[in-house]
Amino acid sequence: MLRVGLTGGIGSGKSTVARLFAANGAVVIDADKLAREVLEPGTEGLAEVVRAFGEDVLHEDGTVNRAALAAKAFATEEARQTLNGITHPRIGALTGQRMAEAAEDAIVVHDIPLLVERDIAAAYHLVVVVYADPATRLERLVTSRGMDRQDAENRIAAQATDEQRRAVADVWLDNSGEVPDVTALWDRLVVFEENVRTRTYASGPP
Ligand code: ATP
Repeated sequence: MLRVGLTGGIGSGKSTVARLFAANGAVVIDADKLAREVLEPGTEGLAEVVRAFGEDVLHEDGTVNRAALAAKAFATEEARQTLNGITHPRIGALTGQRMAEAAEDAIVVHDIPLLVERDIAAAYHLVVVVYADPATRLERLVTSRGMDRQDAENRIAAQATDEQRRAVADVWLDNSGEVPDVTALWDRLVVFEENVRTRTYASGPP
């Protein structure tokens, strides 16, 4: 198995690139999706969140009210840590479970927006960073995603910088223009995976 960390700033095109890897046969683990799963109605995670932050972080139908939760959890550093303390271990456990379920020769692509912020590059055989210049990201978030411009600017500013991402990138995919072709990269990942699994390194690392 090869563990690939896929990251990039908000709106850079991580999900778009993850879909290309999936089309080639990768097992994609979407960290944002798992973050939603651990707070689904009926989960112990959501029960803990309600104990910590109160019933008013729920909608009437019992699903989490993300805006209300964010308002409370991002109000202070302590509240942010409380929420992370509830969600991160559960997301980590689910991630481990999904990896354990993958085939022995799988190429697992972990789509994780906060790889750099959480300083976990060493957990992967390879880190792929998807890049798009900030102006392009802003435009895509506002036009394709319908995000408020100021909100999008704030979210970009709050994340790691492109320099920080460049420092951990083994592969840098520029998605500022056309969506990059990942076919050649995929072929190299297949060889890398086989080398990691068999530990022969007969053809050298990619
Ligand atoms: P987030 O961090 O919010 O999860 P992301 O990094 O996963 O975002 P995507 O959702 O893949 O980014 O892309 C953001 C938006 O830009 C989407 O609407 C997507 O369709 C569009 N997009 C992605 N790549 C390109 C491209 N090369 N050209 C034009 N539009 C693109």
